[in-house]
Amino acid sequence: MNYLVQPYTFVNKIDDKVILYNTITGNKFEFYNNELSKLFDNSNFINRRIISLPYGNAHYSNLLKDMLEDFAIIETNNSKNVTWKPILNIQESPEKIISNISEYDGIGILKYLSEISFFLNDIENDFRIEDYSKQILTPKTSSKNHQLRLCTIKKTINNILPYISKVNFLAGSFKNYPEFIQLMYILRQFDCKQIIHIHYKESDLKTPKHVERNIIIDNTISEVELNKLIVSKEYNSLNFIITSQEDFETYSRLIELHDVCNFSFSPIVTDATCSLIKSMEFSADDIFETKFTFNDIYTKQTLNENNFGKLFIYSDGSSKTSLSGKDVGNIYETEISKIIYDEIAEQRDWFLTRRKFKPCNKCIYNNFCPSVSDYERLMNKPLCMRKLQPLTFCISNGR
Ligand code: SF4
Repeated sequence: MNYLVQPYTFVNKIDDKVILYNTITGNKFEFYNNELSKLFDNSNFINRRIISLPYGNAHYSNLLKDMLEDFAIIETNNSKNVTWKPILNIQESPEKIISNISEYDGIGILKYLSEISFFLNDIENDFRIEDYSKQILTPKTSSKNHQLRLCTIKKTINNILPYISKVNFLAGSFKNYPEFIQLMYILRQFDCKQIIHIHYKESDLKTPKHVERNIIIDNTISEVELNKLIVSKEYNSLNFIITSQEDFETYSRLIELHDVCNFSFSPIVTDATCSLIKSMEFSADDIFETKFTFNDIYTKQTLNENNFGKLFIYSDGSSKTSLSGKDVGNIYETEISKIIYDEIAEQRDWFLTRRKFKPCNKCIYNNFCPSVSDYERLMNKPLCMRKLQPLTFCISNGR
């Protein structure tokens, strides 16, 4: 018998593995290496979303009943409006962007930028922040003492202001950035969210009220200093860098003791944090805890939700579109709009989906998992639990 795979059912087939996902109920059905898998290679399915189950086989049709519709009924019902293929709708499709802008034509492309981070200098300082800048938003230090020109920052913000919602500032040492006061003064003119990420040893730095203060705390802080900092309330948020289980336990205890609300933990991938990183691993239950719409699925299929819209500009003028990515251009030599155009045209880190990341490219969950993170790129492996493989004939509720 012929069945129409309902337009609201998402189908992902990789080699002989298949997942059917009902975007209305969140139910899913997975199988591999099975006679059913082959039905999804058939041109009838590819062109018309129709599969032919063996006549009288109620087993599959019952299992799949909320994803299929009896095709004979559709054919005889002229008034029924049949949608053969799911209508996927996403405004940010790279193909659409590129076809709209057939060649680089100026600043229109900047509307895809939403967040920018400036690294003011890379001065190595007495408190020596280790270079975790490929994993999390921390200052990047070097012995070269680069410094980002104030006029470049101002020009850049002026260009992108109508589009961005957030600007971050970082520095090896804010106190050694000679134009810091002028920068604060210039920032008053801009209406977007502005955050200064300050190492706790510079937390006595004066900043105007319109700028948010995120204090970076690493394990060089003593308990006395941390208590003093928390009690001072001279911050909007605290960011704890976690390099060991011990760090995590100490910070958690103090956060609870002082009832700190606005904080985040940033675990770092090191040999000492293996067990912590393991605790970040996600299971199939975690993935399918949320119900996915077609737009959610298509977004994950098309772009990287962690990276899309972000640009990082370093003190030597170089820039990246993800913390762990490669340089994409120097703003002293290339217009930001050209950097963004190339990012979209060449579909680089903003478009790093699981379908482009091994071994996720061979996994039928690759349109459901969270986008590839900087951690996973650095470890060169996914953060899901090992042996997370679909079962044969597994049907479950998505919620
Ligand atoms: S291998 Fe990749 S796509 Fe598959 S479950 Fe793990 S993270 Fe998700």
